[in-house]
Amino acid sequence: MSKVRNRVFPLALAVFLAFAAFSCDSNKNTAQVEAKSPMPAAEVDTSLPKLSLPPDDGPPPKVDGERAMKYLKEIVAFGPRPLGSASHKKVEDYILAHLKNDTVENDIFTADTPEGKLPVHNIVAKFPGTKDGIIVIASHYDTNYPLRNTSFVGANDGGSSSALLLEFANQLRGKKLDGYTVWLVWDDAEEAIKPDGSGGLPNEMPFEQDSLYGITHLAEKWQSDGTSKQIKALLLADMVGDADLNIEHDTNSTPWLESVVYEAATRLGYQSHFFGRSMEVDDDHIPFVKRGVPCADFIDFSYGYNDVYWHTTQDTVDKLSSKSLAIVGDTMLETIRILDRMDRLPPK
Ligand SMILES: [Zn+2]
Repeated sequence: MSKVRNRVFPLALAVFLAFAAFSCDSNKNTAQVEAKSPMPAAEVDTSLPKLSLPPDDGPPPKVDGERAMKYLKEIVAFGPRPLGSASHKKVEDYILAHLKNDTVENDIFTADTPEGKLPVHNIVAKFPGTKDGIIVIASHYDTNYPLRNTSFVGANDGGSSSALLLEFANQLRGKKLDGYTVWLVWDDAEEAIKPDGSGGLPNEMPFEQDSLYGITHLAEKWQSDGTSKQIKALLLADMVGDADLNIEHDTNSTPWLESVVYEAATRLGYQSHFFGRSMEVDDDHIPFVKRGVPCADFIDFSYGYNDVYWHTTQDTVDKLSSKSLAIVGDTMLETIRILDRMDRLPPK
């Protein structure tokens, strides 16, 4: 996760935080977050559009949260995985080894960054469906570059979602999908190379110019070769393993698709873990949002009190749970199941 902008809290929570959290010294670790005062709820429409959705039928999806947690621990065991590092290469090989019998597209290029040229490797695994169109599920797998010389392993930030995508591959592999084709994307170089531009420190760069290198490359490539017209939706997973799971309602995501996500969570009995607050999240989905692709970001930014674990060496496996991975995994697959059964998807 690179950055979060305005948070929009339910009013009661906003009042509480105004007296509790925001009057406290927000710690140094969250200095990269623009901890602006919560915007009044009235300024942003956080309501979800009402949709007529297909009935709830058939067995619900069931991902293996324990297996996803095993992958997560294995990814984290490689250590920090910033761009250009030996451990980054090991994680690339680790992901590819799990996909050895799948159709994989490697999107490899060199990014011009504030720290010079760095290698970037997006990995795309493709699982064909019977319906015309593609649903993309994405997660970044690199760890925060400015923290490369620390013990930061990004267990939740990059690790949790990358592991979950490996479990999705297990769920999708060898099946004739009765719905849209699904592409799993492990995108690279999501994190800023410099500390982001919100802290007012020297050498910082604006977020827009120094992050999302990999996913932007894919979005541009798929726009120019016509692929993006076939993408019906992009579901993004980021920071999805917190044992105290609270997936945000992201106001940068596509409203109708957020409605489908909430319906999917509700059908599975997981709605208490979804959309307790609304916020505007800058994440890997933005290059596709800008190109008119419907997107939904599954992100839990309430990671520790006042988000204290984000981009710190405290982002470790002990804060996470297999149950949370399963809740997010099941809800993402249920979202796709609903999309598969909708007669027509809104264009954006
Ligand atoms: Zn991050």
